Amino acid sequence: MFSSPKEFLTLHDVSGKPLGVFIGSEIWETCKNEVLPILTQAMHPEPVVVQRPPEPLKDWEALLGYWDFTYPPAYDLVCENCGAATDDWRADDPRKFWLTAANLGGLASFQCLHCKSRIMKRHFKKHVSVECRPYVDKS
Ligand SMILES: [Zn+2]
Repeated sequence: MFSSPKEFLTLHDVSGKPLGVFIGSEIWETCKNEVLPILTQAMHPEPVVVQRPPEPLKDWEALLGYWDFTYPPAYDLVCENCGAATDDWRADDPRKFWLTAANLGGLASFQCLHCKSRIMKRHFKKHVSVECRPYVDKS
């Protein structure tokens, strides 16, 4: 059984299932400043924050830099799936749409932050085509 304050001991129930750990007072004194924050974190986990990848704004700016379409860039977006809409996707607070991709070929993709639909704007010489693909849960 426990014989020294320099030890720690795993405690088991009668069936051998581990219940917890008993830490000797000497060991606890030497490590508690480091262990306590970890324990506190484990007992009160932070709410999960959805981390979105950063918007590829450099790609968007590159597309603007090579803009040779016959119309000016537009920033309005509509989600056909849930009806979310904006006049300027960059200006919403909180944001309604998230730029997920842009390329020099004229494609700009967005995610609707309300319903996760993917909205693709394809820029052609004289017109823009917009396609909305509802989100499919792959799990
Ligand atoms: Zn939507």
